[in-house]
Amino acid sequence: MMITGINILMYHQVGRFEPMRLHRASFCDVGRFSAQMAMLKYLRFNILDIDTASACLRGELAIPPRAVVLTFDDAYVNFLEYALPVLRRYGFPAVVYAIAGKLGGVADWYLSDGMKTPPLMDEAQLRELLRHDIAVGAHGLTHRGLAGLPQDILKQEILHSRTILEQKIGAPVRHFCYPYGSHDLPAMRAVRDAGFVSAVTCERGLADMQSDPLALPRKAISFGDDLAGFAWKLFLKNKPKHPLLRLDGAVSKKSA
Ligand SMILES: [Zn+2]
Repeated sequence: MMITGINILMYHQVGRFEPMRLHRASFCDVGRFSAQMAMLKYLRFNILDIDTASACLRGELAIPPRAVVLTFDDAYVNFLEYALPVLRRYGFPAVVYAIAGKLGGVADWYLSDGMKTPPLMDEAQLRELLRHDIAVGAHGLTHRGLAGLPQDILKQEILHSRTILEQKIGAPVRHFCYPYGSHDLPAMRAVRDAGFVSAVTCERGLADMQSDPLALPRKAISFGDDLAGFAWKLFLKNKPKHPLLRLDGAVSKKSA
């Protein structure tokens, strides 16, 4: 089947978990993850690093057939134990989005739902990722939703997340991930002005040449996805639920 775009897959935690009711898209069993990666290998998907993928989406490179990007939000410590060995086995690149103000801390936003707060990677662990072809992107300073925030807070959450991460890991940070997927045109402008070349949302869909590189759709792989569900998302679940934002669309609307 022909896919003319890039499947950007969204993962959070990979490991072994008791079945949960809430946040099911934030958990992936390591056995299932392993089977999903094996399927991508077997079906000869092209797993792109985020720099290559964003160059494709900017029109600088052709999108290869069966293109996939693997993204991991929040930079959980369990990535190192469970996801990384599987990615290394297949030689797959990935991007991990870290919260600049919570390095070495915990995912405290689970608290409000009475759930455990898993630990997040510290700067040394993030630097370790770079040695394994895993890029580090920014996921805000404090992990707050960005839609509707005033300029100065946007700048703090977005630009500072970049400068702090770059300083801590000693490498350029060019890719952003909106916490909770929350974004609007001012947030996208702040991401652009901070020098990021791509930003991912939680809107479902296939990223293609029509996507704004600063509001890319993704597909969440959930706790309940067996291999059939995974394949269904890859091949068929391509239609966005909502229209995706575009910065240039906003400009043309304003000038009209
Ligand atoms: Zn997050």
